[in-house]
Amino acid sequence: MTELAFKLLKEKKLSQKEYKNLISTYTAEDADVLAKEACRIRDEVYGKKVFIRGLIEISNICKNDCYYCGIRKSNAHCVRYRLTHEEILECCEEGYKLGFRTFVLQGGEDGYYTDDILCGIVSDIKKRYPDCAVTLSLGERTYESYLALFNAGADRYLLRHETADTEHYSRLHPKELTFENRMRCLNDLRDIGYQVGAGFMVGSPYQTVDHIAKDLCFIQDFKPDMCGIGPFIPHKDTPFGDFSGGSADLTCFLLSVIRIIHPCVLLPATTALGTVSEDGRERGILSGANVVMPNLSPASVRKKYQLYNNKLSDGAESAQCLQQLKERVALTGCEITVDRGDVKKG
Ligand code: SAH
Repeated sequence: MTELAFKLLKEKKLSQKEYKNLISTYTAEDADVLAKEACRIRDEVYGKKVFIRGLIEISNICKNDCYYCGIRKSNAHCVRYRLTHEEILECCEEGYKLGFRTFVLQGGEDGYYTDDILCGIVSDIKKRYPDCAVTLSLGERTYESYLALFNAGADRYLLRHETADTEHYSRLHPKELTFENRMRCLNDLRDIGYQVGAGFMVGSPYQTVDHIAKDLCFIQDFKPDMCGIGPFIPHKDTPFGDFSGGSADLTCFLLSVIRIIHPCVLLPATTALGTVSEDGRERGILSGANVVMPNLSPASVRKKYQLYNNKLSDGAESAQCLQQLKERVALTGCEITVDRGDVKKG
């Protein structure tokens, strides 16, 4: 084992410079040892359980033009859709029967969903399923909007920070989107009382090991309740279509590091990880992840929510195939549970 991996095992924290060196020099043995420690910590905090979230992709209409994202406004090839209030409730009904106790409403920044409309949807879901958590993942909104949604019953909010480096942030986004506003949103969400999710893509264009080291320091400091990390996967109809994608190995290694430095975090084995590697989901869990988010969107729209090419939405990635997912998760020695799966505060 290298010295830095040993230091991380012992001290559960490194400096930015040390993270950079660790990421640049880690060996297969380091990855193995850190994964085992990450699983031990996860089991100690949450048990050998994997929480499931039903992911409902409510709209692929977006006013933003993020260079990496397939549903960016400028992608004229994207066939747009938006789910109605009723359709979203039908997804929840089906999900509830399947055993989901968290519904994640994700989408582009679609101006149709005003606070009034969204609050109506959230409060209806909470009225019908008071034992369920509602997670929103709808991008940047105002403090007042986040507050109204929280008061309507939303429990959690996912907003990846994408990169903790301001300069890198500006290479991934057009100038209207700023790192400062992303941070403002994350801080607002936390102040209001949400369980907050951050996260980043591994191997995004122009990303360096320094940037990843900064991401780890950000996670160490901000301590998000959830942290979504997955490999960048190019989408051909975006400005980043010709870049190469991120690796499953590095993603898994970072999942282990994050579990070790932030034991209570809810850590998904993401769809992107399952997309780049056939057994990515299982490998994510064996690296310390404890959440999976199968797709609960209506079958007719699933292929249209193409954040990146070849995005999985069937098989074990589909809420309807929960049995298949259960069997695959069981191979890791963990078990899927019917539970809201709230964060444990350390
Ligand atoms: N509009 C919402 C939801 C974005 S989609 C928001 O701003 O939060 C959810 C996540 O998918 C993004 O945060 C991004 O990290 C990831 N994503 C987008 N395009 C991707 C790509 N090409 N490869 C991998 N992940 C991608």
